Amino acid sequence: MTERTALGRVCVVLVDTSHPGNIGAAARAMKTMGLTDLRLVRPGRFPCAEATARASGADDVLGGARVFATLDEALQDAVRVIATSARTRTLSWPELTPRAAATELLAGAREGNAAVVFGAERSGLSNAELERCGAMLRIPTDAGFSSLNLAAAVQIVCYELRLAAELAAGGARAGDEQPARHEDLQRFYAALESTLVELAFLDPDNPRQLLRRLRRLFNRAQVSDVELRILRGILTAVDRQSETLRAFRDRKPL
Ligand code: SAH
Repeated sequence: MTERTALGRVCVVLVDTSHPGNIGAAARAMKTMGLTDLRLVRPGRFPCAEATARASGADDVLGGARVFATLDEALQDAVRVIATSARTRTLSWPELTPRAAATELLAGAREGNAAVVFGAERSGLSNAELERCGAMLRIPTDAGFSSLNLAAAVQIVCYELRLAAELAAGGARAGDEQPARHEDLQRFYAALESTLVELAFLDPDNPRQLLRRLRRLFNRAQVSDVELRILRGILTAVDRQSETLRAFRDRKPL
C-alpha cells in the first residue's frame, strides 16, 4: 500500500460541531493534506451554505461527509482510534504528541481504517467519548490558553499525518535515491576519522566526543547512497591534497 492510500484511510470524526463554518474549514484542512474521509456525529447544522463557503474548493470532501447519530456508529470500521483534547484529563488516559499519534494512525491505516476524533467547540469530548478511543492527543500550547479553534486543530493533526506519510515514503530524500547502507556508513566514519587525524584536527589520544557528535549529525541527516558517495569523494580529495603537501614538506633540499 502506498503512503497516499494510507493517508486516505485516516478519517476525521467531528462530534457535536455547532458551527457549520468549522465543518467547512475542517474539510478544507483535510483536503490540503490529502485526507478525504470526513464523518460527522450529530452536527448542529448540516448541510449548510456556511460550511460550503468555508470549504472553498474542498466541496468533494464536504459533499462526501457521512452523518452518524452516535460516535460508536461513526467508528464502527476503525481499527485504530485516537481522540483529541485541549485539556489533560483527571481521568488518566494514554497521551500522545500529535507526531506520535500520526505515526500510530498511519500504522493503523495500513491495516484498515483509522480515525481521529474531535470534540465540540465549547465542551470538547466527554470522558465517555474519550474512553472509546485508544489514546488521546494534545497539541502543545501555552499553559494559559490551550484551546485551539476546532478547524485549526484539525489542520495541525492532518499536517502531522501528511508529514509522517511523506517521511515514511522517503519524501525527505530525493525520489530516486536510496538510504545509505549501514556498512558503507561505517566505512565512511572510519575514513573520516583517519582523515581528521591526518589533518591534526582530531587527536587520537584525546578524541573527546567529536566522532560521536559527527555520527549523530550524519544520522540525523539520513544520508542517501548518492550523498555518501559525494562525502567519500570529498575525503579522497582531502587525502590527496594532504599527501601532496606532505611530499612537499618532506622534500629534500636541492
Ligand atoms: N473546552 C474544550 C475546547 C474544545 S475546542 C476542551 O477543553 O476540550 C474543540 C476541539 O478542538 C477539541 O475538542 C479538540 O478536538 C480540538 N482541540 C482544540 N485545542 C486542542 C489542543 N490543544 N489539542 C488537541 N485538540 C485540540
